[in-house]
Amino acid sequence: MSKIQMKTPLVEMDGDEMTRILWQMIKDKLILPFVDLKTEYYDLGLKHRDETDDQVTVDSANATLKYGVAVKCATITPNAQRVEEYGLKKMWKSPNGTIRAILDGTVFREPVLVKGVSPCVKNWKKSIVVARHAYGDVYKNTEYAVKGPGKAEICFTDENGVETRQTILEFKGSGIMQGLHNTDASITSFAHSCFRYALDQKKDLWFSTKDTISKTYDHRFKDIFADLYENQYKEAFEAAGIEYFYTLIDDAVARVIRSEGGMIWALKNYDGDVMSDMIATAFGSLAMMTSVLVSPNGQYEYEAAHGTVTRHYYRHLKGEETSTNSVATIFAWTGALRKRGELDNLPDLCAFADKLEKATIDTIEGGEMTKDLVGLFQGEAKGLSSEGFLDAIAAKLA
Ligand code: NAP
Ligand code: MG
Repeated sequence: MSKIQMKTPLVEMDGDEMTRILWQMIKDKLILPFVDLKTEYYDLGLKHRDETDDQVTVDSANATLKYGVAVKCATITPNAQRVEEYGLKKMWKSPNGTIRAILDGTVFREPVLVKGVSPCVKNWKKSIVVARHAYGDVYKNTEYAVKGPGKAEICFTDENGVETRQTILEFKGSGIMQGLHNTDASITSFAHSCFRYALDQKKDLWFSTKDTISKTYDHRFKDIFADLYENQYKEAFEAAGIEYFYTLIDDAVARVIRSEGGMIWALKNYDGDVMSDMIATAFGSLAMMTSVLVSPNGQYEYEAAHGTVTRHYYRHLKGEETSTNSVATIFAWTGALRKRGELDNLPDLCAFADKLEKATIDTIEGGEMTKDLVGLFQGEAKGLSSEGFLDAIAAKLA
């Protein structure tokens, strides 16, 4: 059997711990036997990040700007304990943060659905994609504890030194306050990523904020989205048969719950943080949540939403059998291969991605899965090891 050929390499970002083990097994068992895989390999494992003073992370992000499609394994974001464990030169920043800063992207998260693991919301038939703005608001705030009576003001000094002041509150006693910001540039790039992704996926786009209360701040988000839609995306949306609509977040929450799913739900930073956890949990499990970073210029980086599954890795190191769910990591690979196939006009590569996804879902629906799913599954379920699960998928795929 001749292998499927590729034209342009994928940017491959290897990672850490249990997901690094899964990464190699996925390639060996599910991809290399079928695809003449072309990748430009970057080892983002913590040891190599340390050896290169984290230059490898920057290089991998720049390679993504060059080639357009990357697939990333989960990586450790070091804390004090990791600095000690790995003897690091320094507490390196989160690789995802570094990559996001270079690609300037928006993160889209989507659960993988299988029959037998039903969503808590019984009318949800299709997945719901959450698009979270990843800059500013409460995540870049300035907070202040007011000790006693006094006047709180918001003050802006322009380039010429001219001050504009507004009173926040005449405090009668102690209290708290915080300053928030966002920029038109960041909101605009968020909006472009959302519109492009909706067209790419042929899904409706919903956007919601609290603009009735926040008449300047949230309203700016609404206006920027509306302007871009009217002037740049409306025709393409109509041609694709999809819809963009804005609604107040209260209304959106009610509609999402009553819907059958299938939309992309764009949210401000905090709303997206909270709602993506709600959506992931309601659909089943974090191990089934996929994630893709889309830049405003149309570069894509695919990954699993979960971390490196440290506890399983320590068991693996002790020689114990693990049962780690590889679905989100497999779907990171299929997402990247399919996108590469679309961009390079390689229908065989796209078809392979479809088949691998189907083999994965069929394996679970047929009752073979990792142990995290066994408790959630309605029907007879066999809990397999990490490797056993991949072997079962490989058998289906062959
Ligand atoms: P985690 O790796 O997502 O794991 C948390 C727990 O969730 C696991 O202990 C496991 O529960 C369960 N779990 C997650 N993924 C699973 C899977 N694929 N199969 C089965 N169970 C799964 O989060 P964490 O323990 O908070 O973080 C570990 C490391 O990952 C940290 O160093 C963190 O910096 C890093 N991290 C990286 C990323 C990323 O690269 N995108 C994201 C988040 C965290 P049980 O142990 O109960 O089975
Ligand atoms: Mg959260």
